[in-house]
Amino acid sequence: MNKNRTLRENIEPQFVIEGAGVLLRRSFGPQVSNRFDPFLLFDHFAFNDPVEGPIVGFPMHPHRGIETVTYMLEGSVSHRDSLGNAGLIGPGDVQWMTAGGGILHEELPRRGPTGSIYGFQLWVNLPAADKMTSPRYQEILADSIPVVERDGTRVRVVAGEVDGVRGPVSGIAADPLYLEVALAPGTCFLQEVPAGHLAVAYVFEGRAAIEGREVEAVRLAVFDDGDRIDIRTGDSSVRFMLMAGAPFGEPIAPYGPFVMNTRAEIQQALEDLRNGTFVMR
Ligand code: FE
Repeated sequence: MNKNRTLRENIEPQFVIEGAGVLLRRSFGPQVSNRFDPFLLFDHFAFNDPVEGPIVGFPMHPHRGIETVTYMLEGSVSHRDSLGNAGLIGPGDVQWMTAGGGILHEELPRRGPTGSIYGFQLWVNLPAADKMTSPRYQEILADSIPVVERDGTRVRVVAGEVDGVRGPVSGIAADPLYLEVALAPGTCFLQEVPAGHLAVAYVFEGRAAIEGREVEAVRLAVFDDGDRIDIRTGDSSVRFMLMAGAPFGEPIAPYGPFVMNTRAEIQQALEDLRNGTFVMR
């Protein structure tokens, strides 16, 4: 194909309240239209105001049929689940959780030394064949995420490949690319992304241009099809999360923290919760 991906859409995230009163910036959430296939949701949580009340986070809740990916820049998330796992996702760490057939967990954000909490949560869909798979965690500490640096460019590779460097997250059905990218002023960033894959960039600081069209923080840039991404900076620097993946092309039935393929499977999930058979092992 040999085509740079142009900017299809420039989405302004909407403020939403989730969990026990957590204010988030949501770029997109699970919808039957499934426009971001294989991704389902992208949330940005930022708490900077020291006078706000206690941070209560997300008390025990279920997930089925999806993967949740937590990426922290500042502060941390204390995590605990129905399988007995517990831990802290700190700055620069990633937790790639494959909920599969069922998990109950708690996610409680904690302030960092500067008083801030800043992070992202991405939901990745699972194909029908994997929706009821056993839960799996990939917990990657900051030091284990490779960094690729070239002229004016700094990339942390969580999943996928940059200049021959592979990210540590593996075995994900959506074949994802997940990068944190920082560009100095006057830099050109090129990244191959297979044609047919969905690609989005969440610009959270600064400003850049995509094929001549400017994108300024805070916005989600949605790319048109093509096989290469070309992002350039002018006077300003930029920081963004770059995400791409192979669409499954399956119908979805979203219901809160569950995303299945049919309404009957959602009914089953609710029944399993009532009967205490939700958590598989
Ligand atoms: Fe959750």
